[in-house]
Amino acid sequence: MIDLTEEQQMLVDTIEEIAEKEFEEKAFTWDNEVPWENLELLSDRGFLGLNIPEEYGGGGLSEIEVLLQIEAIGRVCPDTAFSVYNQSMVGPRAVEMFGTEAAKEKYLPMITDAEGMIAICISEPHAGSDAAAMNTHIEEDDDGELYLNGEKIWVTDVPDSKAGVVWTYFPDEGLGTVIMDFDSPGVEINENYTNMAGGTQTHFFMEDVHIPEENVLVRGEQAFKEQLKALNWERCGNAIMSNATALCAFDRALEYAQEREQFGQPISEFQGIQWKLADMAKHIQAGRALAHQAVSDAQRRGGYPDRLQASMASLYCAEHSEEVVSEALQIFGATGYQQGHPLEYLYRLARGRRIGAGTDETQKNGIAHVLLNKGGLS
Ligand SMILES: Cc1cc2nc3c(=O)[nH]c(=O)nc-3n(C[C@H](O)[C@H](O)[C@H](O)COP(=O)(O)OP(=O)(O)OC[C@H]3O[C@@H](n4cnc5c(N)ncnc54)[C@H](O)[C@@H]3O)c2cc1C
Repeated sequence: MIDLTEEQQMLVDTIEEIAEKEFEEKAFTWDNEVPWENLELLSDRGFLGLNIPEEYGGGGLSEIEVLLQIEAIGRVCPDTAFSVYNQSMVGPRAVEMFGTEAAKEKYLPMITDAEGMIAICISEPHAGSDAAAMNTHIEEDDDGELYLNGEKIWVTDVPDSKAGVVWTYFPDEGLGTVIMDFDSPGVEINENYTNMAGGTQTHFFMEDVHIPEENVLVRGEQAFKEQLKALNWERCGNAIMSNATALCAFDRALEYAQEREQFGQPISEFQGIQWKLADMAKHIQAGRALAHQAVSDAQRRGGYPDRLQASMASLYCAEHSEEVVSEALQIFGATGYQQGHPLEYLYRLARGRRIGAGTDETQKNGIAHVLLNKGGLS
């Protein structure tokens, strides 16, 4: 686990206090809704966009602080933690890493001011794990103006997003990425779906959507390799979010096991329950160790997280988060199985983490690819 500096410990203490005082009461009531009032509160107090540079209104800190923030908030309000994860490690992160100065000035303050989100738009109806099979493409006219055509599906939080980072083919250059405003002429929302955990995921079409030159993030084979490496931040984010979900379930199960009495004693007195708690804690701490290591190693190197570390963290944490939440639900018995109970919600939430940021199987493919190419573990 990361050794915290005095400043980092202070940050954790402050965020924990905010989460308990301000977010706890309405936690688990945000079904199908982004908790904007919580994001606004974080923004007002200078805690939104911790890893965005200060000149764009962010905290000028690193992903380590974001990780600590997601864990601290996620134990109390998973929905707020999810928005922080999504807007720190995914869409806005690409703008921060690859954006032109004009794009950073236009889009990043919106994130730190809690005025809108930036979605990530990769999946298509026929291109899921096989993202390279996508059809979305840029057409360039004689004046060099760029127009986007295609469709995307399963994109999270589109109704709350002002823009999206869209993965697309460029003529003769392979895949690249651009920023697209959702209110641009030519963007047509086909359908908003509601996923198992109540989140909104959208299918939309793009027809001749004009993309200003300053909104091009990445084009050309070499540049796209960097974009692919940057996905390791999303993988680490998925691991961190999974751990936060597991911690949230574990905290509740530990408390409940000591309160709930059966056969004349708290159920925590039964060895069967104690073993569950021990296994849950073991998986959470192992997952945290993997995620913390991946993030802190990247920080130390000043680059992207390593693919092997990021995929292992994402895979392990997502798989075991589901297991931990399921065991926590088991400890709650019928109470935890009721619609509207935090455990029931956490279970649905944890399940999505095994698909959303690359499925378990895709992570395994990535791990095996590195192992086979590098000749094993170092
Ligand atoms: C909660 C959630 C949020 C999401 N948010 C976004 C978003 O914001 N933006 C976005 O673009 N997309 C988003 N997605 C979509 C996500 O990226 C895709 O679901 C994911 O890439 C898998 O694609 P698929 O669902 O089409 O499954 P498929 O690719 O069709 O896979 C189906 C099954 O086959 C397996 N499989 C596929 N290929 C292989 C292989 N080579 N080896 C072994 N098994 C394989 C998969 O692991 C899976 O089990 C989200 C999904 C979820 C669940």
